[in-house]
Amino acid sequence: MAQIKKQLIVFDFDWSLADQDTDRWIFEVLAPDLRREMKDEKEAIKKNKELQARLQQTLPAGQMPSDSIKNALRVMPFHPAMVRGVRYLKEAESPKTTFFCLSNSNQVFIDTILEKQGLSDLFDEIVTNKASVTDEGLIHLRPRIDPEAGGVPHSCQVGCNPNMCKGDELKEFLRKREERGETFDRVIYVGDGSNDYCPVLRLRAQDLVLCRRFRGLEGRLENEGRLGQPGSIVKCSVMKWAGAWEVEEIFKQKL
Ligand SMILES: [Mg+2]
Ligand SMILES: [Zn+2]
Repeated sequence: MAQIKKQLIVFDFDWSLADQDTDRWIFEVLAPDLRREMKDEKEAIKKNKELQARLQQTLPAGQMPSDSIKNALRVMPFHPAMVRGVRYLKEAESPKTTFFCLSNSNQVFIDTILEKQGLSDLFDEIVTNKASVTDEGLIHLRPRIDPEAGGVPHSCQVGCNPNMCKGDELKEFLRKREERGETFDRVIYVGDGSNDYCPVLRLRAQDLVLCRRFRGLEGRLENEGRLGQPGSIVKCSVMKWAGAWEVEEIFKQKL
């Protein structure tokens, strides 16, 4: 293999960089009854938005809902080995690594957790759903592709959620960088969920996916991607992991 001088690492956030799902976690901590509704509800995305609004209304009086939510996120599981691993990669002189976060969580949740973990400077770019804190202390969420703001629906056929096609977002990130004359000898994608399958299909032979085991991505790679079988449509290499300590090990010893 040719020498790798520059690489891009793309991180999904929930259950990949972080050791939990941000949306579910805040309900588990602050409103378990709503968490139950979320689990029983099939239309997860629509319901989640409704539940977010109800959660904010039901939080204790006298405290800003956004403060309660941020405090819950600050105690969300985040593996120390992941912190060590990404720090190691970021500080390494060769290859030089660019960090890109591609997440279906939202900007406020991600910023809050990165700050708590001392990783505010980690990412060169974050693409996620828009969020802001209102004057009333509520968290206002908007989808990445926002019909109310004139957002054009994506045409992905792989099954991405309406609010974001992660494959399109990765392609756009790479296109913008290439326009500036920047290319990557290798792309490493760290993901776990079924919505990470679309971007992983766009990876090249010299690229690598670090796929978390026992979650949606692994199944799609094997069933739809026919991973490891003749005629597989997965072009990149695949390494599997279950615990963040294994990601740290890969970063330090196997890349
Ligand atoms: Mg995930
Ligand atoms: Zn897609």
